[in-house]
Amino acid sequence: MTTLNAFRKFTEGLGEQDQQMPVLFIGHGSPMNGIEDNEFSQRWKKMAQEIPVPKAVLVISAHWYTRGTKITAMDYPATIHDFGGFPKALFDVHYPAPGCPELATETASLVSTTIVELDHDWGLDHGTWTIIRHMYPQANIPVLQLSIDYTRDPSYHYELSKDLSTLRKKGVLIIGSGNMVHNLRMISWEMINGGGYDWAYTMNEQFKSLITNKEHEALINYSRLGREAMLSIPTPEHYLPLLYTLGLQGNRDEISFFNDKAVGGSLTMTSVKIG
Ligand code: ZN
Repeated sequence: MTTLNAFRKFTEGLGEQDQQMPVLFIGHGSPMNGIEDNEFSQRWKKMAQEIPVPKAVLVISAHWYTRGTKITAMDYPATIHDFGGFPKALFDVHYPAPGCPELATETASLVSTTIVELDHDWGLDHGTWTIIRHMYPQANIPVLQLSIDYTRDPSYHYELSKDLSTLRKKGVLIIGSGNMVHNLRMISWEMINGGGYDWAYTMNEQFKSLITNKEHEALINYSRLGREAMLSIPTPEHYLPLLYTLGLQGNRDEISFFNDKAVGGSLTMTSVKIG
């Protein structure tokens, strides 16, 4: 049996399970986290050991920002090095996880609000592989990406993700990969190893409070949250993955935070576990 057939067999067994998979929002930060053994990447590794082994991973990455909603549907997604100016060691990383065309088709069929296009051109961008290679270093779990439609408003993304909730019962780990506070124009090199501006800490605490209290309407309408929110979310692509994870929250899910830190002044690594 080829490896691909073995995975097909494996994913055919994506039946409903008693235990729901948790949902994660992960602050990915610098691409260097992909090759560094640091407090953030260590926590990702530990998280993978704490939660059930998934049958597949579906990532909504800030770095796949498209017209229309797409899902990767190839047998073997490429490792995409979508950045510049980093060491060769980062460009040398290849993460050979398989895809799962059957799960792509099934996921597309679950979405009622739009037609999800099956994609054969993208792959795994750094919003995905810099995290997943720490969590699942053996690259033996299928990984898919769902794109973010930049023509839609925030509530569209929140509502779309609700259609994906049955995947949790089928052993699929859904991860939103971005950063809640993400303003690269204001990066402070003095704080590059840790520390944030006052507005970044203020917004980080407000985000955590709203998430804890399930005030999702306020988080969807973030543009009404004032000056700190505007500084934290100058463009929405790193924030929207959070709305995908919140849309998947069930009534009994507990919320916890990890990697709750600011780096570079204007970026937070704060991450959320739902369930
Ligand atoms: Zn990013």
